[in-house]
Amino acid sequence: MYKRYLYGDGPGAKQESTQSSQTKQEKSADSVQDIMTTAVTKCWEKVEESCDRFKNSDVLQNARGPTDKRKQSSWKTVRVFVSSTFTDFFNEREVLVKKVFPELREWCEDRSLYLVECDLRWGVPKDSTTSDTIYTCMEEIDRCHSENEGTPFFINLTGERYGWVPSDEEVPVDIKSQYDWISGTSITFMEIMHGAYRKRNPNAVFFLRDGEFCKDIPKEYYEKFYKRFVDADPVQKEHLRVLKQKLRARFPDQVFPYSCQMEGVTEEIGTGRATLKLKGLDDFAEKVQTFLQGAISRTYPDQKADKNPDPELQEMENQRLFMEKKSEFVAGREDLLKTMLSYAKGETPVGLQLTGGNDKSFVRDPVYWGLEKGDNPLLCLSGPVGYGKSTIMAKLAQEAEKCGIAVVYHFVGCSSDSRQTEKMYRRIIQTITGEELDDMPPEEQDCMKFYKDKFRNCLPRLRKDDKAILLLIDAMNELVDNNAYSHLSWLPPMFPGKIRCIVSTADNHFPTLHRLEEHPFYHAKMAALTIEDARLIITHTLARFNKRLAPDEMDLILSQGCVDNPLWVWLITEELRLFGDFRTLSTKIKSISVSVDGLLASVIKRLILDDDTGYMKKAVSVIGCSQGGVPVHDLMNLLGDIDQKEALPALYWAKIRRHIKPYVRTVGTREYLTYSHSAISKAVEDTVLTSKDEVKTYHTTLADYYLTWSTDKYINVEMVPYHCTQAGLKQRLINFLRKSPDSVSMPDFVRARYFQSMRCKNLADPVLPSIQDAVICMACSMKKSTFAPRFYDNKSSCVVCGSQIFGHRPAVRAHYCAFHSVGQSERIGKCHVCENVVGKDPSRKQQLGMAYGQLCDRCSFGNDAKKCCLILSD
Ligand SMILES: [Zn+2]
Ligand SMILES: [Zn+2]
Ligand SMILES: [Zn+2]
Repeated sequence: MYKRYLYGDGPGAKQESTQSSQTKQEKSADSVQDIMTTAVTKCWEKVEESCDRFKNSDVLQNARGPTDKRKQSSWKTVRVFVSSTFTDFFNEREVLVKKVFPELREWCEDRSLYLVECDLRWGVPKDSTTSDTIYTCMEEIDRCHSENEGTPFFINLTGERYGWVPSDEEVPVDIKSQYDWISGTSITFMEIMHGAYRKRNPNAVFFLRDGEFCKDIPKEYYEKFYKRFVDADPVQKEHLRVLKQKLRARFPDQVFPYSCQMEGVTEEIGTGRATLKLKGLDDFAEKVQTFLQGAISRTYPDQKADKNPDPELQEMENQRLFMEKKSEFVAGREDLLKTMLSYAKGETPVGLQLTGGNDKSFVRDPVYWGLEKGDNPLLCLSGPVGYGKSTIMAKLAQEAEKCGIAVVYHFVGCSSDSRQTEKMYRRIIQTITGEELDDMPPEEQDCMKFYKDKFRNCLPRLRKDDKAILLLIDAMNELVDNNAYSHLSWLPPMFPGKIRCIVSTADNHFPTLHRLEEHPFYHAKMAALTIEDARLIITHTLARFNKRLAPDEMDLILSQGCVDNPLWVWLITEELRLFGDFRTLSTKIKSISVSVDGLLASVIKRLILDDDTGYMKKAVSVIGCSQGGVPVHDLMNLLGDIDQKEALPALYWAKIRRHIKPYVRTVGTREYLTYSHSAISKAVEDTVLTSKDEVKTYHTTLADYYLTWSTDKYINVEMVPYHCTQAGLKQRLINFLRKSPDSVSMPDFVRARYFQSMRCKNLADPVLPSIQDAVICMACSMKKSTFAPRFYDNKSSCVVCGSQIFGHRPAVRAHYCAFHSVGQSERIGKCHVCENVVGKDPSRKQQLGMAYGQLCDRCSFGNDAKKCCLILSD
């Protein structure tokens, strides 16, 4: 019997029905057969039970409908989970990764959908048998569930293998309860249950491979490959047979048989690792593509092309998601919320004193803002880092909205753009005033002043307006220019009419506090966590993982000095939850640092020490070097091989993410990954990014990646300048700003800012005899601009920043400093573009077959007109 199963039947899909009737006939005669049928039947009884439990949620899903309630214009993420056994689907996965997904990704982008493939097996050479893997797989499916309306896109590939069956001890207890784990089944089987079967997921598709080709495995490789492709164990064979039958019955339109042929065996040079090559997979590829396109169109029928995604809409969406996520967990603080809410409603906040209002109000100038009697002072919430200010602010935004107040909120630090004062301000003004802001005209110098004037001019109108508006800005101390003199100069000292404004800041950031104190404001301070609150938080958090502390252990924690800080309490709870050895828990508690910084430092060290992928340190560092986060897709590539353009295997990445998950958050559809708290970023800087050279190397890696591999121009234009600047790669930055099509969309004033910072700092006052004009030879003057990726010619480009110079104003000529004028004279110049010799008119009046280099308004503002125009690349 055993032998027959091993070599006799080529159990292809077509033969299955006859095979199954044979099996029935032989069953009574064969006790081995009995035992295994019982085993399989028992598993399926449990499956049916668990399906019953999911019935209700099934109904719920259908009632909710497949369409997204969110704004139609915004981008959405589509996750496709690929489920299969490990060793026998290399060929198919290669087809998916290299052919199907790239095409599908483009198709998705035309519909403003962002495709993320989750193939955890890709690139992982062998079966992985840790409980970590089980966690990783199941959580990955959970993500797909939660992001794609409860009906994740799920591809299963099934051949002649049932897959690895973990023993009862190998499956952790909480996994068993969380996922209704059916013991004695394989991990691939459980993926099917969780991702498709139980909820009868309409977006799941099953590809059953005909095993015929196995006959053609070359003789010398037969032993080696046959067991990689066909299960020998009779119980597993029976499992597989029933599984295929059940899938066909439950998903009649979602199961596709396919066949393929042997191509041969290739051996890797060096390692000698042999791979079996299959051919004839075109049909398979096409079916996957067709099914997924159909399923995606059904789920997101209204998605339209959005070739120029509006960054402000995206930011609004990021802010909304952050606010919703943050406001979920509020512990206590009800009195504080109530007080702030009454202020938002226009009442006088009970228990809060008006403070501040010293006479040194020169930055936030009351005369400029035209204050009137009866305008409303601000309310500021301050507190130590980690006390949960953002959470309160998020909850407040929600509560105020419920009261019918129009809330305009901005959480600094929730996305990469959110720290930029200009972008934040523009968005806020547009939302409050309801007016579309024009782009800044080229003759303006100062973007913030331009916006400020616009805002001020709207205030008189808003004073008469009857609409209640609450402006909420969280973590003002984390704005990029938080130490500049002009910090908060854009914030009106008071707000007119029915506008109220609540801001928050860390109480150790004096520039922010001092600016606020220039004018009277209500000051609300976050109180420390009480012992009882701390006890509650710890108990509840651990209970979610079926864990509990003994009373003496709890008392030990509550006696620590830091227990009034919610961040510390949360961090220590995480540490204890992950700590395996309960007998030494007290010793562990005693060893934990009693400061937030110290505790975070040990958390980061632990992450790196416990990591078995070898990529944790780099991941932590790269996120730490980013400006407001790295898109997950990019991070996987960055951790892989940049030269070969090979991403890190998804399983490794999923493992890393599982461990850093508590300390990071993702923002937006492109999934920018960033640390969830500024204290964590700081701890990474202090523990991992200590060597300047190493930090430079990370920035270089990032710059290289965005210059050579990433094709997303919206991300490139944001990342390349930042990382080039940090890594000191001036020449690469210059090339990018001047030549790359990706930088076309960059506003002129931003480009100008980068060039200004790379300009030679020497003076070049043309009254001095040693100073020479910048000139451009005849040929170069008519060529397309060398200084910016634009269509006008060199003679109408600013020689510093490349913006266009129009003829309607007197030209400002560009000069070289004495040092850079060496070798030139009043008769002989050097072309600024090609460096060829150019003849000049000594009187500096006529243009003898050449053009004078010119400076735009921005590059010739004030003293800059008399500065050398050369851009220095080192
Ligand atoms: Zn310029
Ligand atoms: Zn110079
Ligand atoms: Zn030239």
